[in-house]
Amino acid sequence: MTSGLRDLYQEVIFDHYRRPRNRGALAGASHEAEGHNPLCGDNVKVHVRVEDGVVRDVTFEGEGCAISTASASLMTEALKGRRLEEIGPLADGFHAMVTGGADAPGPALGKLEVLAGVREFPARVKCATLAWHTLRAALDRRPGNVSTE
Ligand code: ZN
Repeated sequence: MTSGLRDLYQEVIFDHYRRPRNRGALAGASHEAEGHNPLCGDNVKVHVRVEDGVVRDVTFEGEGCAISTASASLMTEALKGRRLEEIGPLADGFHAMVTGGADAPGPALGKLEVLAGVREFPARVKCATLAWHTLRAALDRRPGNVSTE
């Protein structure tokens, strides 16, 4: 990755941290879950409104570090309008990207790729994946809280 591209990615992450998109409660949410990353102290609550197998709206709440907040914000943007069956592959692709496990090309991750640099910082991987773990718990309707530990 060139340093110019890396700078651009860092700018996008910082922008989503400072001005998170889709942050707040969601009226009429059909799926919700809460997640916690004790390693860093990140907390996130994900609200999703699914209709006819499509994610119509998604928001998040909570407090966390720049990476966890930016990741949750970027995730909400990436999910709107997706069909439920697209979400598993997208979440898997994202996980593979931030853990460096992506040998085979996964689904196009688009703007989510700004978080690819996280793979160089193993301690931050859980910050980046927290929102996605919590999303999956919400969609699976698993009871209780999610912890990355
Ligand atoms: Zn964190």
